[in-house]
Amino acid sequence: MTFEELDRGYLWHPFTPMREWLAEPPLVIERADGNELIDTEGRRYLDGVSSLWVNVHGHAHPAINAAIAEQLAKVAHSTLLGLASTPSILLAEKLVSLAPHGLTRVFFSDSGSTAVEVALKIAFQFQQLRGFSRRIKFLALRNAYHGDTIGSVSLGGIDTFHRVFQPLLFHTHHIDPTIDELHQAFASHGHELAALVLEPLVQGAAGMLLSPPGFLREARSLCHKHDVLLVADEVATGFGRTGTMFACEQEGVTPDLLALAKGLSGGYLPVAATMATDEVFRQFLGVPEERLTFFHGHSFGGNALGCAAALASLDLFEREQTLASLPPKIAALRARLNLKISPLPHVFEIRQKGLMVGIELRRSHSQPYSAEEAIGAHVCRIVRRHGVILRPLGSVVVLMPPLSITLDQIDRLVDATAAAIAEATSQPLLAHSDPPSRPSQPRPAPLRGIFLVGTDTGVGKTTVGVGLLALARARGLAPVPFKPVETGAAPDPEDALRLRSAAGRNDLPREIICPYAFPPAVAPALAAEQASTRLTLSAIVAAARRAAVHGDFLLVESAGGVLSPYSEDLTAADLAAALGLPVLLIARNALGTINHAALAIAELRRRHLPLTGVLFVDTTAILTPDRAHNPRLVRALTGVRVLGTLPFLPVPTPEGLASALRLSLDVELLFPSLR
Ligand SMILES: *Cc1c(COP(=O)(O)O)cnc(C)c1O
Repeated sequence: MTFEELDRGYLWHPFTPMREWLAEPPLVIERADGNELIDTEGRRYLDGVSSLWVNVHGHAHPAINAAIAEQLAKVAHSTLLGLASTPSILLAEKLVSLAPHGLTRVFFSDSGSTAVEVALKIAFQFQQLRGFSRRIKFLALRNAYHGDTIGSVSLGGIDTFHRVFQPLLFHTHHIDPTIDELHQAFASHGHELAALVLEPLVQGAAGMLLSPPGFLREARSLCHKHDVLLVADEVATGFGRTGTMFACEQEGVTPDLLALAKGLSGGYLPVAATMATDEVFRQFLGVPEERLTFFHGHSFGGNALGCAAALASLDLFEREQTLASLPPKIAALRARLNLKISPLPHVFEIRQKGLMVGIELRRSHSQPYSAEEAIGAHVCRIVRRHGVILRPLGSVVVLMPPLSITLDQIDRLVDATAAAIAEATSQPLLAHSDPPSRPSQPRPAPLRGIFLVGTDTGVGKTTVGVGLLALARARGLAPVPFKPVETGAAPDPEDALRLRSAAGRNDLPREIICPYAFPPAVAPALAAEQASTRLTLSAIVAAARRAAVHGDFLLVESAGGVLSPYSEDLTAADLAAALGLPVLLIARNALGTINHAALAIAELRRRHLPLTGVLFVDTTAILTPDRAHNPRLVRALTGVRVLGTLPFLPVPTPEGLASALRLSLDVELLFPSLR
């Protein structure tokens, strides 16, 4: 059997949709030479993402290979549990000399995930040991990625990766990396935080997002002020990627805990470290008493071969003056990106810090590619034909070459990427996942729009719908409302007609906007039953698709709340799942709403529905004392984004509602695809 066949027969690849993997021949790497990987056919590829962000000085570097071989002749591994070992001692000393001043202790493990897991457990136990028993929460950045163990996933905020595991995770507060949000988060949660965990300067797996200058420094000072530990995850940014040895240096910051992995061993062996300040470490000293022990350790922590490789890599930084060689490379990369990539039509933004680059592709300026289009993966498939290996993050094409990349190779890397982006974005998408040679069910195009659901009936869904439709029109869209079922229609479905008129679509027959209208004011399931009708999912979805062809944006208003029934086995939540639209939860801003909203959110999460956020509606003019606080409490309890509160309007015209919505919430957040 060939390697290809054996791979398909036996392997389960990480972060890989295996059905698609099995449908295509794999690229099998056999050897490497410097910055190039070589496959079983002898073809050479530039390693454009450093073998997933780990390689530093190139592959098969004679100095690192020799150091590993030399260590191997002595001992491959001995434990650090109750024993010490020479290479781990030397590496710890070296790391303390290189890391931001004040980090004086090194705890070894074997991956970025474990380095972060260790940091968060140390931070948690540290707060307990010094008597701050209520500091049990963590603050992290929205879209954060800190690894794949359950603790590090709990800190993370990348929905696609983390959604399935939601019920297993501990609750973490998430903020956007802005100084405003930082201050707000500390003002409301500062007292309950054990630590703030962040990737300094660049959020890698989030899509190479750059934090604003000064953000890290401000985070440091707020952590000091509120007695909260600062954990810097430099698993991706460490070891020269951003232009300095560590990203923290660029804002003169020493974190309390620092997580290192990926480039630590030069990318040769799995070695990771969590570094701590003396203040943190000292809390674990004192009389030998059980609770002072940090009960954590991995079999291979401080592995001798890995530590030897890391020492050799750090030695190369000095001998080859690696950091000093970076500025011309970083400048050449920037210039080439500007020349070759910027002018391409579907390039939305290029984000670069040092040798870390994210190229975000969009269909148009305001319209992202959908996940199904897998545009980034498409680019990476094509770029292989040009002799380059890349790995995307959704619609972001990532370049992160080894620090040893040459100026010529930088040109090769960027030119190949430019050619692949041009080719991928000029073809009809989805073609690659449905090869025309194989007859297959035509897949219906994904719907574009939003699904409005309430926490209850009478919470203001139609009012919000009317405002959103007017807003969408004002922005040049052709929105079509769809209210599958209206009850209490005596005889006309008044809500559906209000929506139709707000959309400016009185030309459309009522049956397109609202296929089912029943006179009794009861739940749709009951009203249908009384009319001897049975509502089915397939009929409603087909009606939604019929409505959708009349415009470019479908606004669906479901009946009542998340579990309001359309039949004995069909709820609004089932409909939302079948239509695949982002869900907007509408909540009445009144006493009782916190419980209603939290329950609705719990159910939407349990079903993994894509929740855009919660919008509160003041449904009366009467001010009650809870009103100002409900949105904040819902946000804190659930961690879900609150988009704003629509104030009560005595005369709710479409235009009035549209401008109230525009003023009270960030419309771009609500409709990322609005033009
Ligand atoms: C890759 C990464 C991790 C996880 O590292 P693994 O070695 O894959 O477990 C953690 N944090 C950041 C910032 C990373 O980029």
